[in-house]
Amino acid sequence: MKKNILSLLIILQAFSCKEKKEELNLTKGLYIANVTIISTEDGNYDPYVGHLVVEKDKIIYIDRKEPSISGIFEKLDGTGKFIVPGLIDSHVHITEVQGMLPHHMEKYPELTKEFNEQMPKSYLYYGFTTLINLGGISEEQIASFNLQPIKPDLYHTGNSGASVANGYPMNFAPEQYRFEAAPNFIFMESEADNIPVKFDPANHTPKAVVDRIKNSGAIAVKSYYESGFRGMSKLPVPTKRIMNELLDESHSNGLVLTVHGNSLEAHSFLAEVGVDVLAHGLWNWEKYKDVPVDSLPLEIRKTLDLQIQKQIGYTPTLTVIAGEEALAEDTFLNQPELTKVVPKKLLEWYKTEEGQWFAKDLFSEYNAEEVHEIYGNIQAHAMLALKYLSDNNALILFGTDTPSAPTYGNQPGHNGYWELKLMEEAGVPLNKILSSATINNAKVFHLDSSIGSLNKGKKANIVLLSKNPLKEIEAYNTIEKIIIGGKLTKREDLEAKK
Ligand SMILES: [Zn+2]
Repeated sequence: MKKNILSLLIILQAFSCKEKKEELNLTKGLYIANVTIISTEDGNYDPYVGHLVVEKDKIIYIDRKEPSISGIFEKLDGTGKFIVPGLIDSHVHITEVQGMLPHHMEKYPELTKEFNEQMPKSYLYYGFTTLINLGGISEEQIASFNLQPIKPDLYHTGNSGASVANGYPMNFAPEQYRFEAAPNFIFMESEADNIPVKFDPANHTPKAVVDRIKNSGAIAVKSYYESGFRGMSKLPVPTKRIMNELLDESHSNGLVLTVHGNSLEAHSFLAEVGVDVLAHGLWNWEKYKDVPVDSLPLEIRKTLDLQIQKQIGYTPTLTVIAGEEALAEDTFLNQPELTKVVPKKLLEWYKTEEGQWFAKDLFSEYNAEEVHEIYGNIQAHAMLALKYLSDNNALILFGTDTPSAPTYGNQPGHNGYWELKLMEEAGVPLNKILSSATINNAKVFHLDSSIGSLNKGKKANIVLLSKNPLKEIEAYNTIEKIIIGGKLTKREDLEAKK
């Protein structure tokens, strides 16, 4: 008898749900009707045609059933179109002008100003509605980015990375400024003689540094394991004790520890420690650098296996390699797509003798063919590692490292689309590429309560495309509209001025 009443109740409830249409009274609404919704919470996609309603900056309704709406709202007919959550790039640097050093920026304030005004729009142009700045950023830089009329949501890792004293990337700054320029450097006993005495070691312990980073409003701590590249002398790297302390302190402050590293030595060290995120892929195969491009040495596989087992976030950043290689390519700057995201005058400056400075620095002793051979080999290894990880259920995070060096080869937004294409070329399936740029990044960086998927209560960061990104990678270049915090923008309105 009890059971009968219960089933009757369930039937009645189901019936009343059907009868009662949800009533939405909007004051500043957006209604996207009849659109194919592509979103996931767990990596499995089950696209369906449905309806999504935004009120102010939040998603308040998402369902197969048509909602009943009243009040003030804009309606978009999504028939034949697709929506995905706004894309998240978890490795960018918005503090530089691509292809320039500080002295160039000083010499050309107009170019710098135009670039900084266009840059947030360029990210949005390719659907990137959230950026995580993985390096030093000042309060002024954050404020000036946020003053732009339309921009992605910006998260950061504080005033400077947690680099060990005199290690990467502090080593790039002249000795007399480098400590001031990296206020969150870590004191290391082996470097004691090379640290000016005015810096109190007590202010540069992992705990003191992570506390400062936390207080600056950061969501993550960026650290580095880099012993040097391109003929640099051997750089100091963190000890296991330091990296473990950084990890513990980050976690006790609710922060994520993401670490630069792209060599076998770095990846195996960081996998052993069990950091949260590897900010780059494993492409520097060291003693295995000359193995055939289709063979994965056992030692490398074991490191990748450990990363898979510990579910460490792996950020391929394949455009680091491609964006440097691009400097050897005469045709790179002539791509029509670049005119949509790079101000015209800056694009012209890149083509001048002065604008070619980094290309000359890197490649004056090589011809284009030699450059492609060297970089092609490194990229093939990077892709092979990524394919192995993807095939074996690693936690892949989308990140570009835009720009990874003072190269004009990594342009805002454009570089993200390029990275997506390279991931596909490496053999990562389209569903995994989309989740890497949405829910995976959101979860790992603790942002999933507000972004990363299309769900009731989440922030309305949405991309509307005319093609299906689970069917073809080029769909990411068929964006029609971008919704950021409920604000609807047409893609063409984000283009750089001609
Ligand atoms: Zn970086």
